[in-house]
Amino acid sequence: MMPPGLSERVDLTKASILKLQVYGLNIDVLRLDRIHPVISGNKWFKLKYYLQEAKRLGRPGLASFGGAYSNHLLATACACMQEGLKCVAIVRGEEPRSYSPTLRALQEYNIQLRFVSREAYRNKTELKETYSKEFGDYYWVNEGGQGEEGVNGAGEILRLLPSQAEYSYLICASGTGTMAAGIAKAMLPPQKLISVPVLKIMDRGQNELRDYIKRYAEEKSVEFWYDAHEGGYAKKTDRLVRFMAGFYDRYQIPTDFVYTGKLFMALMEKAEQGYFENDSKILAIHSGGLQGNDSLSIQEKSMLGWFR
Ligand SMILES: *Cc1c(COP(=O)(O)O)cnc(C)c1O
Repeated sequence: MMPPGLSERVDLTKASILKLQVYGLNIDVLRLDRIHPVISGNKWFKLKYYLQEAKRLGRPGLASFGGAYSNHLLATACACMQEGLKCVAIVRGEEPRSYSPTLRALQEYNIQLRFVSREAYRNKTELKETYSKEFGDYYWVNEGGQGEEGVNGAGEILRLLPSQAEYSYLICASGTGTMAAGIAKAMLPPQKLISVPVLKIMDRGQNELRDYIKRYAEEKSVEFWYDAHEGGYAKKTDRLVRFMAGFYDRYQIPTDFVYTGKLFMALMEKAEQGYFENDSKILAIHSGGLQGNDSLSIQEKSMLGWFR
């Protein structure tokens, strides 16, 4: 059997814009989830220039890091296979007895998979040294594609819009903040960016994510909605899964529980609370990641309309 997504090429023409009318607001949803089943959403944009660089430099492939459910590792592996590059995936944590759907897919791609303890995982410099000795001169990509190439690629998301200037707000979910940084860099003043962190962040005044994104933006042009994490990274609540089910039933937009479910739940709540000025035009970036839902329980999946 062909591993998931390998036979299909990324198709940017599938990135449709869905227009919603919500509480008197115009919300356009940019469906990046539709461009590819695995290299979905922002991942293709973030990887684009790393793939080009690796080829230009004649490297054997890309090497990168991520957790056992990492959309980034999966997208990297699939993109490498398609581009004729090799791939090394360094996975956080000991090798589990039973593989997550993401790990199974990585295994099917037949790439080099290495598990490292959580402690060893923290020291990326050492990991790069160790595995460069084993595999050779791979091109290393930071976790989540973080870095200048990733930011520049992510900024190109906005080129898909017929008229970028019509939006007063651009909103997206954030993990490493690479996508948000790219959007911040490419947006046009007086546009505002709202980053919705999907991890629990303690110090709201000063934290890594905020500092990273703010490097690319004018002082007052970025806001952060810190209360959308539902318990933390990859944590979920019944409320979230019920929201995802209702959102699909209403708008036929599937979401994932790690990123876009939290993004849209926060957006709908803020819209209802009157957060936005009346004539605001909002662009919500659906950054993909739907394969992450494979790890939901059977009961949870049965609640989601598109799994039925
Ligand atoms: C990886 C991912 C993100 C996070 O992107 P960052 O650039 O790390 O902030 C957001 N949404 C989805 C669906 C993702 O897979």
